[in-house]
Amino acid sequence: MKKGTKMAALMLAMAMMTTALTACGGDAKSSSTATDTTVTDSQPQDSAPADTEPAEAGTQEAAPEAGGTLTFGTNAEFPPFEFVTGSGVIDQYDGIDIAIAKQIAEKNDMTPAIENMEFASLLVALQNGQIDAAIAGMTVTDERKEEADFSIPYYTATQVMIVREDSDITSAADLADKKICVIEGYTGEICVKDMGYPYEAFKKGTDAIMELVNGKCDVVVLDSATSQKYISDNEGLKIVEDPSAFESEEYAIAVKKGNTELLDMINTAIDAMLTDGTVAELGAQYTEGLSAE
Ligand code: GLN
Repeated sequence: MKKGTKMAALMLAMAMMTTALTACGGDAKSSSTATDTTVTDSQPQDSAPADTEPAEAGTQEAAPEAGGTLTFGTNAEFPPFEFVTGSGVIDQYDGIDIAIAKQIAEKNDMTPAIENMEFASLLVALQNGQIDAAIAGMTVTDERKEEADFSIPYYTATQVMIVREDSDITSAADLADKKICVIEGYTGEICVKDMGYPYEAFKKGTDAIMELVNGKCDVVVLDSATSQKYISDNEGLKIVEDPSAFESEEYAIAVKKGNTELLDMINTAIDAMLTDGTVAELGAQYTEGLSAE
């Protein structure tokens, strides 16, 4: 092959990769600025000294002492990963993430605690030292990596389309002339924005689903397991997948940038729970009975 041809082939391959990634992947270098409440907006990549204030006020430079409290921030609006219930595994909070958080704390002789807040506030709360770690079905993205350090991933998900059963949507290309709902600051919003479609963003998954059920929007783009939960809770909905448009995403736990002591501790615990099957068991336990479509 001539050098020029080889180069062209390489460039084409790279261009194709970029297209696939920008279409929607967890590690996509998203060009999205989403809405102004999105965490990813709050600290542009090239503004290095932007957070000097919270960094100074921050307390979480190391892991808490054994015997202390390990505080996880979450947004308990994301079943089956985190939700509020009568008797949860940590206070009123329950779900796959909450059970994982509890075990991480207990493996290190710490008491687990949950601070429930808006998803968009989690990384700021880390920077401020209000929480030690964020566990919230949070997809690792390049933009988020600018703001926090991430553990090894513990779960792989993808975005899917929730539609009414009679919908004619069969692929992401069909979204072109549809009314799309997303949840503010979630990767689903980033995906739809990157695809260039107009959309409406809601604060809560349940609000977006109600809009769909009531016929006010045609499709909700949301993480797979949470979508399964919503379609099993609501009559008349189904899931449409399009793996060519929505790449897989990885959920991981975020800690304040530079807090390697806590990150190592969390990674050791997650690694053990992945190896001994705990994470898989929790996944099965909390998704049992959820319909697959
Ligand atoms: N995985 C999605 C994201 O990271 C949604 C997470 C969530 O709502 N808890 O944006």
